Amino acid sequence: MGLLSLGTPLPWEEAKKYADHVREHGITQFLSIWDKLKDRQGDELLWGDEIEYMVVVFDNEEKNAKLSLRQSEILAKLRAEEGGVSAALNRCGEPMVMPTFHPEYGRYMLESTPGAPYSGAICDLLSVEDNMRFRRHFARKYLKPNELPLTFTSFPRLGTPGVFTEPHFDPSNAVSSHSLFLPQEITNPHARFPTLTANIRERRGSKVSINLPIFIDEKTPRPFVDPTIPWHRNVYKEDHEAKDGAAKIDHIYMDAMGFGMGCCCLQLTLQSCNVNEARRTYDALVPIAPILLALTAASPIYRGYLADVDCRWNVIAGSVDDRTDEERGLKPLKKNRFRIPKSRYDSVERYISNHWTNRPEYNDHPPLYDEAIVKRLRDHGIDELLAKHIGYLFIRDPLVIFSETIDQNDEVDNDHFENIQSTNWQTIRFKPPGNASIGWRVEFRSMEVQLTDFENAAFAVFLVLLTRAILAFNLNFYLPISKVDDNMQRAQKRDAARAQKFFFRKDVFPVGQESRTPSIASSSGVSSPVDGAGNLPRKDRRLRNCYPAAPPPPQGLPHDRIEDEYEEMTLEEIMTGKGPDFPGLIGLVDAFITTLDVDASDLERIQRYLDLVRKRSTGAYKTTATWIRDFVRSHPAYKHDSVVNQEINYDLMVAVDEIERGLRKVPDLLPKEYSCPEAASGALAGLKSPQ
Ligand code: GLU
Ligand code: MG
Repeated sequence: MGLLSLGTPLPWEEAKKYADHVREHGITQFLSIWDKLKDRQGDELLWGDEIEYMVVVFDNEEKNAKLSLRQSEILAKLRAEEGGVSAALNRCGEPMVMPTFHPEYGRYMLESTPGAPYSGAICDLLSVEDNMRFRRHFARKYLKPNELPLTFTSFPRLGTPGVFTEPHFDPSNAVSSHSLFLPQEITNPHARFPTLTANIRERRGSKVSINLPIFIDEKTPRPFVDPTIPWHRNVYKEDHEAKDGAAKIDHIYMDAMGFGMGCCCLQLTLQSCNVNEARRTYDALVPIAPILLALTAASPIYRGYLADVDCRWNVIAGSVDDRTDEERGLKPLKKNRFRIPKSRYDSVERYISNHWTNRPEYNDHPPLYDEAIVKRLRDHGIDELLAKHIGYLFIRDPLVIFSETIDQNDEVDNDHFENIQSTNWQTIRFKPPGNASIGWRVEFRSMEVQLTDFENAAFAVFLVLLTRAILAFNLNFYLPISKVDDNMQRAQKRDAARAQKFFFRKDVFPVGQESRTPSIASSSGVSSPVDGAGNLPRKDRRLRNCYPAAPPPPQGLPHDRIEDEYEEMTLEEIMTGKGPDFPGLIGLVDAFITTLDVDASDLERIQRYLDLVRKRSTGAYKTTATWIRDFVRSHPAYKHDSVVNQEINYDLMVAVDEIERGLRKVPDLLPKEYSCPEAASGALAGLKSPQ
């Protein structure tokens, strides 16, 4: 979750004195990178995924599934093997590099990345699932027999009365968050995390407060006034906040960073050919983020209650919302400089590409950036769009400052830049090279993690192929940013994949392209259409970068009304197509695949992944969130009162493990033929759940 420097972190009262210093030197550091690397060209496609796990420990006698707080011990063992090479081979016939494991916010979390980036080779694309399984298998090796690394987005019993961690801790000592529900020990003890937690609370001037609408079931009490909130606790001065209105009726109230940053996701980072290709990719992915959030929705339960939402996004946004009352518009601006509509963790605020397809009208939020910083960047020769992007990130204060690293060498260090950059958690992140050995990158951050590596690989493969289709066909997904924000909110609603419509662009092809069949950008920069036999000018053997951007149309730039460019579509239409003109995202990926030289068996594997994504969008398969909600609602111990009790949670976690191992068939969630080579082994083999 970002930079892990070592040292002595400053408490907020001290840290805030250095905010301008960090911003000033952060910009100097960015400019130094820019000067050195802005012209960097020709980087190949290298990419990677990040998977976050929660380590769940099963007490089979008590029938309790809890979070295991052994992150540090587990990581120490996992990291000892880092850098080595395994005897297992990937599908390119190369030995697998040992995976890298990273700490995450929750003391029960692990994060893994492949030991080496994936290249554009098709065999590497097809190694993603194996790589993910390899990582899971590797993590399991260092867990106790009753522990498992589950790829589950939000732990249902986090913050409930009773025992939800092992070992158990009382929440009365939560010195960083002052939470009523989460003990201090839920947080990774590395200084960065408790300091982030405390400094967010102190900067904000109150505890974070997250209210998710509760799912009203037949027997949910109305109005719902949560009996598990210790309304009259009196340990910290903020304890009165819940009864003073921070906790809303008919909602699930959460009051700590851990409820959000303790959630798990699936992220992808891709290297681009050059800075402009990274900027085009970034923009194209902005409208895709809510679509894939809706499709990967996997978190319908919080603090022991079924919620009326299916996703983690707003929970995390609220959980790190350090804005003061003034910044949130509750009081007139006096001490602060800006009214800020979004949390630091939120959807992208501005498009950044300087390609002609990025019409100024798409950036339709009122301008919000640090003017002095934008001027400084502009004076240095940086174009307006990029300057305003950085100027927006830099309206935030740095939250964690280490006393040892206040003074840096701005020519070689970039910690001050990264301090602000890595605590701006937008749906997409534009990543400058940290040093000369790496290129300009784009990170895709909205997806929820899926129960199996098959699904995680499917979404990863789909997204990587989609980015290639975007570049190869010069696809245009631009929508006004306010509509993308609307889509983000719709994506999180209960059953959004079926029940919601989303704004999407009607015509995604380059202006003037007559044929509705995507055509690939040739190296001359002129699009050459597919011929009648479906042959393309050249077939690529691997996924690549460095496609020419579409030249401006000879007839001049388009100036049709922005409102005419988009309409509301179902997820199924967005993914599988609408009418003769829009083939859908999967149709576009399919068209891109025809430009590749892939053999039949590889193609079949790719199609298996695309088929999962397609079926999630058509409703042939449920989303993970719907499957979880249905599991709870049909459990014999569920009383139709929205409560997910210890027994249901235990059975759910057992079921999730059985699904992952291929022991429990879920034809409404996964293909019937789904299986896991490790099905026979492991902690819970043979354990039957009641359903
Ligand atoms: N766990 C966070 C999420 O679910 C992401 C943290 C990170 O940036 O790695 O979105
Ligand atoms: Mg992470």
